[in-house]
Amino acid sequence: MDDKKKRQSIILYVILVIAIVVAVRAFIYPAVTGNQVQNVDYSTFISMVDDHEVDQVQYNTDNSTILFTGKGDEAGKTFQTNVFPGDTDLVSRLEDAGVTFTAELPDAGSNMLLYLLMMWGLPLLFIFGGGYLLNRQLKKSMGDDPTMTFGGGGIGNFGKSGAKVVAQSETGVTFKDVAGEDEAKDSLAEIVSFLEKPQRYEAIGAKLPRGALLVGPPGTGKTLLAKAVAGEAHVPFFSISGSEFVEMFVGRGAAKVRDLFKQANEKAPCIVFIDEIDTVGKRRDAGLTTNDEREQTLNQLLTEMDGFDNHKGIVVIGATNRPDTLDPALLRPGRFDRRIPVELPDLAGRKAILALHAHDVKMDPGLDLDVIARSTPGASGADLANIINEAALRAVRMGRNRVSQEDLQESVEVVIAGEQRKSTVLSEKEKKLVAYHEIGHAIVAAIQRGEAPVQKITIVPRTSGALGYTMQVEEDEHFLTTKTEALNQIAVLCGGRSAEEIIFHDVTTGAANDIERATQLARNMVTQYGMSDEFGPVALGTVQNRYLNSTATLTVADGTAERIDQVVHDIVESCHQTAIRILRENQFKLHELARYLQVKETITGEEFMRIFARDNDLLPKPAQD
Ligand code: ADP
Ligand code: MG
Ligand code: ZN
Repeated sequence: MDDKKKRQSIILYVILVIAIVVAVRAFIYPAVTGNQVQNVDYSTFISMVDDHEVDQVQYNTDNSTILFTGKGDEAGKTFQTNVFPGDTDLVSRLEDAGVTFTAELPDAGSNMLLYLLMMWGLPLLFIFGGGYLLNRQLKKSMGDDPTMTFGGGGIGNFGKSGAKVVAQSETGVTFKDVAGEDEAKDSLAEIVSFLEKPQRYEAIGAKLPRGALLVGPPGTGKTLLAKAVAGEAHVPFFSISGSEFVEMFVGRGAAKVRDLFKQANEKAPCIVFIDEIDTVGKRRDAGLTTNDEREQTLNQLLTEMDGFDNHKGIVVIGATNRPDTLDPALLRPGRFDRRIPVELPDLAGRKAILALHAHDVKMDPGLDLDVIARSTPGASGADLANIINEAALRAVRMGRNRVSQEDLQESVEVVIAGEQRKSTVLSEKEKKLVAYHEIGHAIVAAIQRGEAPVQKITIVPRTSGALGYTMQVEEDEHFLTTKTEALNQIAVLCGGRSAEEIIFHDVTTGAANDIERATQLARNMVTQYGMSDEFGPVALGTVQNRYLNSTATLTVADGTAERIDQVVHDIVESCHQTAIRILRENQFKLHELARYLQVKETITGEEFMRIFARDNDLLPKPAQD
């Protein structure tokens, strides 16, 4: 049974149980207890007695309630009311109306029991009984063993090491499912061939890598690649996440590692995949607080990796986005000696990933994925897969059965900036502010040479909190940024704030993110790229975490740090002045475009350029610093 079918049958089962519960409620329960008991107030009870609408009355001494049945119009119904204290003539009133009355304890006990059984017993029986059957069925259908559950087996069952390690005998993923990443695939191909025919390597006396470390930012397909290796070689795939080790009680993590390798030994050749290996493999001396449990686990891992018989064909693949924190012992030869970078996809890679995922959804013919790839620099494979999926969801929402270009375009924005937030209504004044701000960015970008042209400007608020944004598209991919380009970028980031200043002679909180990014870029220019005249090509900091964020920690004397701050400030300020100058020179266009945007709310890059270029003799105009 594949995953999809399994999920379908579980969903079907849940629906069945719900249907049964509803049916029990609707039909069986009223039949058991007579009718549903209806609560009425005391005055209704009295007037019903007086109107001869009451047949029998039963006083419950236990909780001072009156249960009574109706007659005439109300025949067959059962009511309940609370006794009103001090009503002394109830008895004579009942006698007058000819009602039979008793003060016995109502015999609800047996009914209650039956009711409870019906309401809870039956569904529970179905849930557990059915679950058991389903489980058995799943296990039976696993006769060909697509999923072997180790360490005790069964749902909710824990093995002796305290967790289950599941090996997939066939991951069903191959290199075809991974787009781009050709270098990584090349490096992994050798491992595949080793796993397919370990004897061949043994015959010649070659030692093969015991471990490979996939290193790269989140969402670039590391897990996918590891699965693909197992799939290509048709070997079982043991997968465990580093954090699973660490959450264990003291000593259990190590036991689990032992367990894992024991099972792997039995199933060799196979892949043991340890995701987020940095959580266990952190440098042992790092930091003041030591984590005994983690160290034990790591030591055990090191021991196991040294110990296993490599000729059987066990390859340990680790994945991490923080290689810098790994313990050096893990990286020495014979352990994770092979390091395979899995980088963010370039333009061609993004296109390939989009095409791969687009294959699974119905698309309008002739869709242009190229534009999408161009407008998503820095997006990971997971982001791109998400973009395609969001587009498909949007197409369904719009009642279409194919994904259109517009869906894709919109989903890029959803993934980058969050869903359109319909509930946030900007006042006209704020709309005006945001419009000037965004057009400010766009004009500075358009005037500066070498800046990517604007693709779209919008002042529709997003769930991410952005009130509007200007989307830029890279014309061609470039890997280097020149100093001029970096300065231009900072000026563009300052464009929004500068427009606010020129037009409203006041500033808003809306520029916070722009300022942060501009400052960060300027700081990187000074401390990492050696782009300041003051310091020249000297590294003033070290990058701790290349894959998660690339900010540097300063490694300078206090006095230098102060000077760095000054230089960073000067860079941002001079770019700010450039932006102000550009906007002053194009003030008429700024007004015209901002008004247009305020009315239209979203304009395309072409619309922008058309209006901007119309009788504009300032364009094109080389930027001067
Ligand atoms: P990581 O382990 O690096 O964080 P994953 O392997 O879990 O990333 O990738 C998440 C998802 O992103 C995958 O399931 C896949 O749908 C998509 N994806 C990422 N990279 C690629 C790629 N190169 N080709 C195709 N799909 C990819
Ligand atoms: Mg992963
Ligand atoms: Zn802005």
